[in-house]
Order: sequence, then structure tokens, then C-alpha cells
Amino acid sequence: MNRLIRPFLCLYFFFLNFLNDRQGVFVLIYHRINDDLAPNHLIISTEKFKEQMKYLQQWCEVISITRLTEMLAYQVPRRLTGKPQVVITLDDGYRDNFLNAFPILKKLNLPTTIFLATGFVGTDRKMSRYADRPTPDMLSWEEVRTMSEQNITFGPHTKNHPHLPGLSCAEQRAEIESSRQAIKEQVASPVADSVFCYPYGEYNHDTLKVMRDLGFKAAFTIKPGMNEGHEAPLELKRLEINGTENLVQFMKKFSK
Ligand SMILES: [Zn+2]
Repeated sequence: MNRLIRPFLCLYFFFLNFLNDRQGVFVLIYHRINDDLAPNHLIISTEKFKEQMKYLQQWCEVISITRLTEMLAYQVPRRLTGKPQVVITLDDGYRDNFLNAFPILKKLNLPTTIFLATGFVGTDRKMSRYADRPTPDMLSWEEVRTMSEQNITFGPHTKNHPHLPGLSCAEQRAEIESSRQAIKEQVASPVADSVFCYPYGEYNHDTLKVMRDLGFKAAFTIKPGMNEGHEAPLELKRLEINGTENLVQFMKKFSK
């Protein structure tokens, strides 16, 4: 984007958001931050990710997932700064999260949560979508621990990334519980016990029962929109960030 126009656009959206004054929290979904793969709804370039993170740091209030769950518990999704409130999440646990996203998040000191499909972490297993990628393509536990020391928290995303509604209640419980257990054994993550993210955004009645039985406080879907405080905490909305979109399209997401 033209560097002369950008500040004016940022200001424009800032005042638009200020006047709009809708209270709530946007939760953003990223998957891969990668320059070797073509951008799509799951992949964004490092440069574009950096541009978006800089925008969030300056023009939004980036809050931790812990803060979001506290706000939901007390039903106070209240913003104090006039800026849109945003939570950053990355799904699955790709190695490019460590190589490309982490340096940017660390430099800008932006709290972020990565939801791990734990059966892939520290192994040569690949997500079927990326079967032809060189090994290793997923995070190691060492990389997870390194990031956990810098404002990055980790939540479970099942062990094998299945379509949960296709499993029995007992199978779903095993997938979810073993994922949570693996994180707790490997890294000190304060949110591993309380937040969860459904693979493919899919869940059913049994999944919600397992969530309640296991004491999860918040779980994330891929239903788009802002969380205004009246949503069921186990069915929170998130916004998918498409790597083909430009910065203006990104800014517009927070003005709805
Ligand atoms: Zn996933």
C-alpha cells in the first residue's frame, strides 16, 4: 500500500471504530505464516503478517486469551481505549509459526495463543493437506517451550485433528483429554486447562458435553463475527484471516 495513504486510512478506520463504539472482542485465526506456499485462507506471507501485526499493535487493543475468558466470566467485554479489542490465535502448530511469526510477535510484544494438534508436535507426521512438505513441518516441543517464555500460550486442538462429530463421545473425550495432557506435560501453559479450539470448527452435542465435563471455560469455532458477551462461551466466534486480502480489507474487519 502507498505509504503516504496508509496513515490517513488508519486514522479513518480508527475514528470509524471509535464512532461505531460496538463493544466486543474479535478473535483472529491464522494457520501458516509461510513464504514458500501460495497465500490462501490458511496461509499468509511473513511480510503481510508483519504489516497486520503492526496495525493491530498501533490501532487495536490486543488482549490475551486469559483476559478474554475473564471478561466473559464477568460479562464485561468492555473496551476502555476506544480501540477494537482483538485476540490473536494460530491453529495446528506449524513450524513456520516459530520461524516466521514468533520473531514478529516477540518484537511487538503481542500476546498470542497457539492451538496445538499435539499428535503432530515433535514428530514427522504431516497434516494431510501438506503431505508433500519437507520434514519437519510441525513445531517441536523445544520450540513450543521457547515461545512459551515470551507471551505465547498454548491450548489443545485434539491429538490427531479429526472431524470430531464423526467420533463417539468416548473417542472425542480421548482426543481432547490427551491433547490437553500432552501440553501440560511438555510446557507450562496457563490456558491449557481452560481453552480449546475445534478442528475445522466442527463440534456436536457430545463435544459440548465433553467440554463441560472436562471443565473448559471457552472454546473456539470458525463462525465469523465479534464476541459481544452473550455468546455461549463454548461456541465463540473467530475471524479467518485470508492471506490474499490486502491491509484495507483487513482493517475493515474491525469496523463491522
Ligand atoms: Zn486445525
